[in-house]
Amino acid sequence: MKPPRFEYHAPATVDEALDLLTRYRGEAKLLAGGQSLMPLLNFRLSRPAALIDLNAIPGLAHIAENDGGIRIGAMTRQRAIEFSPIVRRRLPLLAEATGLVGHLPIRTRGTIGGSLAHADPSAEYPAVLAALEGEAIVRGPRGERALAAGELFASYLTTRLEPDEILVEVRLPATPAGAGFAFEEFSRRHGDFAIVGIACLLVGAGGGCARARLATAGAGPVPTRLRAAEEILERAGLGEAAIEAAAHRAAELVAPEDDLHASAAYRRHLTRVLTGRAVRRAAARMAEG
Ligand SMILES: Cc1cc2nc3c(=O)[nH]c(=O)nc-3n(C[C@H](O)[C@H](O)[C@H](O)COP(=O)(O)OP(=O)(O)OC[C@H]3O[C@@H](n4cnc5c(N)ncnc54)[C@H](O)[C@@H]3O)c2cc1C
Repeated sequence: MKPPRFEYHAPATVDEALDLLTRYRGEAKLLAGGQSLMPLLNFRLSRPAALIDLNAIPGLAHIAENDGGIRIGAMTRQRAIEFSPIVRRRLPLLAEATGLVGHLPIRTRGTIGGSLAHADPSAEYPAVLAALEGEAIVRGPRGERALAAGELFASYLTTRLEPDEILVEVRLPATPAGAGFAFEEFSRRHGDFAIVGIACLLVGAGGGCARARLATAGAGPVPTRLRAAEEILERAGLGEAAIEAAAHRAAELVAPEDDLHASAAYRRHLTRVLTGRAVRRAAARMAEG
């Protein structure tokens, strides 16, 4: 199908894009990679009066390291993230998760800002943002604000961005050298959205686990930090009994719903199995140094 008629704008600056958003009073949509928005338009599930294309704005696509953190511009393509040496070295969990996003042509156009703003509950990046305790930097007419994952994601395909705000950057703390990481997911076919995914980061100290971070994709309307499961690993270490206990706890912490793709019970089961797998693989990486 073809999209309904819309006006098209290609602003040259973020300020110009913000002025346009204000002018259309919530009736315009930002266009990033178009990999989620264009299908919505083609199926006429979205009928904006105008598209505001972010692709011509310089300075929104970058990956930079400073002060122990990594800044990634909202328009950075998933493909650039996948092959960035900075991301490989400093954010290995993000690098691994990116390889699981759709297929190569999708990653070549799709952006990190678009993926977070689209807020698909099964997407990998929201779970990574939650596990790495990063922030989305948002700019609007009232200035700039930083939203953690818990603040950014409101529900299925819904964020707490105001209609006149633009996500301009993602900031993630660099992962310490020697940390363990893994993104485990189950999908029906290679490149499909995950039915459930688990992002895991482990930081060791003195043979134990000083910091465990676990976050879900596909196990509820928004990515969920599995804090009580993390606490089990931080308290009891990374032995098999602790991992099993954490995985069981993880399944109790999520609140999935039945849908066309899977029952709630199956998603809960996957949460347990994938949490166990992610922690074991992250722990093995940590042991290798
Ligand atoms: C066949 C297929 C398979 C896919 N598989 C996966 C998968 O396995 N995992 C996964 O995570 N994704 C998957 N995707 C989605 C893909 O990752 C998209 O690229 C992503 O969801 C949206 O990014 P985009 O840059 O294309 O955004 P767009 O489609 O351009 O925009 C998406 C939404 O975000 C808004 N938006 C975009 N940028 C901003 C911004 N800077 N500030 C505020 N709002 C903004 C837009 O207005 C729109 O509402 C798949 C897509 C397809 C078509």
